Parts: sequence; C-alpha cells; structure tokens
Amino acid sequence: MIEIITIGDELTSGRTADTNAAMIARELHAAGFSVQRITTVGDACGDISAVLRTCLPVTRFVIVTGGLGPTEDDRTAAAAAAAFNDTLALHPEALAMLREKLERRGRTMNAPQQKQAMLPSTCTLIANPVGTACGFIMRHENRHYLFLPGVPAEARAMTEFVTGYINEHAGRRHAIMSITLRVFGLWESAIQEVLNYAPALPGDVCLGFYPHFPEVALRLTGHGPDEAAVRDRLEQARRVIAEYLGGYIYAEGDISLMECIGKLLIDSGSTVAVAESCTGGLLSHLITGVPGSSVWFERGLVVYSNAAKTQLAGVGESLLTQHGAVSAPVAQALAQGIRKRSASTWGIGITGIAGPGGGAPEKPVGTVFFALDGPEGCRVQQRRFTGTRDQIKMLSAFTALDLLRRTLLGLPAEVQ
Ligand code: ATP
Ligand code: MG
Repeated sequence: MIEIITIGDELTSGRTADTNAAMIARELHAAGFSVQRITTVGDACGDISAVLRTCLPVTRFVIVTGGLGPTEDDRTAAAAAAAFNDTLALHPEALAMLREKLERRGRTMNAPQQKQAMLPSTCTLIANPVGTACGFIMRHENRHYLFLPGVPAEARAMTEFVTGYINEHAGRRHAIMSITLRVFGLWESAIQEVLNYAPALPGDVCLGFYPHFPEVALRLTGHGPDEAAVRDRLEQARRVIAEYLGGYIYAEGDISLMECIGKLLIDSGSTVAVAESCTGGLLSHLITGVPGSSVWFERGLVVYSNAAKTQLAGVGESLLTQHGAVSAPVAQALAQGIRKRSASTWGIGITGIAGPGGGAPEKPVGTVFFALDGPEGCRVQQRRFTGTRDQIKMLSAFTALDLLRRTLLGLPAEVQ
C-alpha cells in the first residue's frame, strides 16, 4: 500500500545512486510497513506527472523525493499541480519559513529561492528541519502523496514525520520508537561480524546501518500497539548490542565524537592540546567545530617539517634522525612536548604517511603513530589505514580523538 517515487536526471543517468529510496524503504520496513513499488523518473515535467498518476491500485501512500529546489531543473511542484488538476500558488507559510531560514544564515532571498514557496494551492506543508525547501502533502482520490527534497540528509530528516503520518492515516495507531547508537572503530561488515555472535534481537526490532565515514550509526527501531512493550524490547536490543560492541559505541543519540569528548573533558575539568603532522590541522578543525570548545581545547599546532617539530613542540633532533619523523618515539615526543608547553591536562601527537606517495616497505602509506600524554603517562599506538589521502587524514584524526575518549573512560586502547 506504499510506493516510493524518486525524481532526477542524475538518478536515471546513473550519475547518482538512489540512496533515498533504499533509506525510506528501510525506515518504513523497520516501522512495520511494506513498500510495493519503487519507481525512478527523470526531471521532465510531463513524465513526473504521468508517474504520479499511474500508481498501483492498492497504493494509499506515495513518498516522492527530489526536484523541490530553487533551480530550473526542479519541477516536481509544477508536475504535481498538473497531475492533480491544481495550480501553483505562493504559500505565505512556506515563504515565511524560507525567509527565516535564509536570514538565520545571514542571507536575503533571491528570485530562484522564492520559487521554492510556489507550491500546489491545495497542499499542506511538511517542515524541513535541515534545509530550505519545504516538503508538502497532497491528497488525490483516496491517496496521500508526500513530497520530500532530494538531498539525502534532508529526506532522511523528514522520514520520521513520514512514518508517523502513515501510521496515523493508515489507522494503525502503533507506537514507533527508535534509538541511535554511534560507533567508531568498526566498519559495517566488522560490526555485522561481531553481531553474528550475539543472540537474536527481539523479533519486531529492526537494526539499520547508516555509515557516515568514518563512523557508523546503528538505528534500532521498534513498533507495536503497546508503547511500554516497544520501549522494553528496544531496551533489550540496545543491551545486546552494547554488550557485543562495548567501547566501540561512543554515544547514543545525536552527538558527535568531538562533542562527546568535550563533555568528558568538561566533566573532569581538563584540557587538551594537539601537535599534528600528517592531519595538517584537521584534528584542531574537528575539535573547534564544537561550540564552546575554547573551554577545553588549549591549542593546536601543525608541525609539518622536522624544524617545526623541534622548534614548536620540542622534539629532539636526535629522535628525528634516529627513528624518522614517522615513528612512535616522535609521536610520543610531540604529545609530551605539546602537553608540557601548553600546560594542558592532555597532549596528543600524530605523525604518519597520508600518501599517496612517501611510503616505504617498512612504513607503507597509511602508517600513522598516535600518542596521548596525560597525568598517568604516555600511551602510544601504531595503525595502518587504507584509503585515499583524505580518508587517511580523517581516520587519523578520529582515531586520535577516540584514543583520548577511551583513556578518559578507562577503556583499553582499541586494537584492530
Ligand atoms: P535542492 O533544494 O538541493 O535542489 P531538491 O529537492 O531539488 O533539493 P534535487 O535537486 O533533486 O533535490 O537533488 C539534490 C541533491 O540530492 C543532488 O545532489 C542529487 O544528486 C541528490 N539526490 C536527489 N535524489 C536522490 C536520491 N534519490 N538518492 C540519492 N541522492 C539523491
Ligand atoms: Mg534541486
């Protein structure tokens, strides 16, 4: 009784994989609904109208994504109006939401952006918590059409509304609840492998994987007529997963690894400073992305050359010549040097080879040394990552942060 329609030439040309349809189908399935058909159509207005008019006889709900934006090739609103004998009209509420969002970003509205408030006159709006384009709902014959933006993060942010809406209008009155667990240090397949040893989750709890490099969010969703029973089964599932993944789960809910560390440092009244080589400031950038990080982040140095390592972080020249810049002793000296010079509670040192050049047989591309110096001594780790230069830098920055998190929590340093 549910169909999904995804719109866009980038989908029909194969330039972009249709992740929206899979994501929405997965979320609906987790909430106990099944999807009968998924259709993809290009940006031509007439084609979109035709697809909207040719649903399966059993279909009662149609979820549509794409083509709600400000540009010329975004024609979904016009196609919907044409398909259901409606006309486009300026929606004052959509215009007000749009103006408010743009103003919050310090921008004023231009003509193409205003187009996003031109919607079918009979539609009702769906708020978009992430982007500017509103979603909207149309009723035609006995069907409900829910239109969402194509940007995956926006479609995702609005899916909870969609499941709630279908639940209500299908007259099912189930409670639908979910929990998100955030994992760093294990990729999807490794998580699955670990969970293969775990007891089965309660039958009506669904586990969804949402990889977002370099981490994975695990979403547990349960549904049923009795809210307390759903909550119980979700909690049961959460306990199973927490037991098997242990310290790989860094948080529950909508919180980043950086925010998580900020909270731990604030709680313990401590500070951190970093001396980074191969991450080139990325670690400091990630940390300073957290509002209020000035309370717990003392300083960050990018010490790329040997001279910088010596002059700014006090790494002994003999260490550099004896072991090379990419080595455990140099990572340790970076962490100790930055901690001492900044008088911070914790000092982090990172040195490695992000590639694609610069590798050697004994230190191949992706070799990275991490050190964390603190009140109880220095912890050093060596890792070997694979991936592009950007991926290796991102993995390195996250791994250094995770080492700090694990140390703050008294967990063992993770070994893969
Ligand atoms: P915008 O306001 O950004 O224009 P929109 O609703 O008009 O949003 P589109 O223009 O269709 O959406 O797509 C925006 C972006 O989202 C594009 O980069 C597109 O490749 C991507 N996208 C659209 N549909 C999908 C989909 N089904 N799966 C994955 N990505 C998608
Ligand atoms: Mg667009």
